[in-house]
Amino acid sequence: MRYISTRGTAPTLSFEEAMLSGLARDGGLYVPETIPVLDADAIAAMQGQSYEQIAYTVMRPFVGDTFTDAEFRDCIDRAYAGFGHAARAPLVQLDQGHFLLELFHGPTLAFKDFAMQLIGQLFQTALARRGDRVTIVGATSGDTGSAAIEAFRGLDNVDVFILYPHGRVSEVQRRQMTTPVESNVHALAVDGDFDDCQARLKDMFNDFEFRDGVGLAGVNSINWARVLAQVVYYFSAAVAMGAPERKVSFTVPTGNFGDIFAGYIAKRMGLPIDKLVVATNQNDILHRCLSGHGYHKGDTIPSISPSMDIQVSSNFERALFDAYDRDGAAVAQLMDELKSGGFDVSQGAMQALQETYSSGRVSEAETSTQITKTLRDSAELLCPHSAVGVKVANDQRVAGTPMVTLATAHPAKFPDAVEAATDIRPPLPPRMADLYERSERLTRVPNDLAALMTHIKENRSK
Ligand SMILES: *Cc1c(COP(=O)(O)O)cnc(C)c1O
Repeated sequence: MRYISTRGTAPTLSFEEAMLSGLARDGGLYVPETIPVLDADAIAAMQGQSYEQIAYTVMRPFVGDTFTDAEFRDCIDRAYAGFGHAARAPLVQLDQGHFLLELFHGPTLAFKDFAMQLIGQLFQTALARRGDRVTIVGATSGDTGSAAIEAFRGLDNVDVFILYPHGRVSEVQRRQMTTPVESNVHALAVDGDFDDCQARLKDMFNDFEFRDGVGLAGVNSINWARVLAQVVYYFSAAVAMGAPERKVSFTVPTGNFGDIFAGYIAKRMGLPIDKLVVATNQNDILHRCLSGHGYHKGDTIPSISPSMDIQVSSNFERALFDAYDRDGAAVAQLMDELKSGGFDVSQGAMQALQETYSSGRVSEAETSTQITKTLRDSAELLCPHSAVGVKVANDQRVAGTPMVTLATAHPAKFPDAVEAATDIRPPLPPRMADLYERSERLTRVPNDLAALMTHIKENRSK
């Protein structure tokens, strides 16, 4: 299996190279050259299997010869051993035909753990074999950073620096990033918003001297290995709901488009997915685009679902690449236009996108009301991101096809919004109950590329 860039001019890479490098050298994102298809028998065989077994079947064809079968199985087993639920991604019923896929039983209580815990194992195995080390730099609106730090803390071959927007992440998110004591972990509070953090990260990748000098590696959702790990729970959920005989729809609270794009890959692999619904908060660039109004940046407005406060949705580039029939030059042109504010999508590409995705937008008040309603009607406490999903799913689901809404974080990760809606302050699970007592360690940094690069060079282990 080889990987190509969405902008068409970077070298073609193996899975290992695509995983360790992250962003392509032409500024694009890596995607597999072809998408393997699992036939109905292979999908039916997943019925009754463990999450880990399904994970192996789904991901193995993408990995090529980067890992042996045994190595890859071990990585998967170790990745999910620390989850607080035997099913890893359990389904809970909300209503007739509406189910919640709980993706928050990992160590940092958000779905990011599914990919990050696996990537930690894969990086460690690959780097130990190569006798190499890397500097991981990540940008986060909160959950990626805590998941990355949790996955890489204490590993020998890795330094991890996380850029997060100062004052714009929840206290639980911040503490999960600032309380690990391992010296290879560095939490950097940037004076800026998430889009600034993500832009500085991209700048670092485009500075080849810095990139090669520190062995820069990326674990943001632009990293293909992360998207791949998320394909698995679409399979485990759909199979539990009756696939391959029965079609299932999914609604996904969306920011950077990684999670929903994984659903698209599952569909391309042969999973019978009916609708893939993008749910956004008031930062609704994706909803506006999928409604035919072009992709035009606005200002990011802080919301009670902060992990979706994004205007530039990195993985959308992968969707555009397929919608434009894999024309890298066309995508490069669009991304150039984006630098000066935005672009319109061609009619053909728009039609392709709308055949795959539908979308909805949820206001702050509606989010809060949905948390209240779901507790009253279904006795489930939702985090605000999951509530955005449930609201859009309710608006769009049709009788006869079950709808699965992805619950992307545990309510205790966003206790203020949940308490405001329900008067209940959700407690942290017992295994992390002392989070508020641990001491914090972080560095305030300006939104300035040169200063950031200097800080990273001087503070990584040599
Ligand atoms: C990251 C995140 C999202 C958005 O996921 P994308 O893959 O960026 O679309 C939604 N909810 C929560 C809780 C998250 O952490």
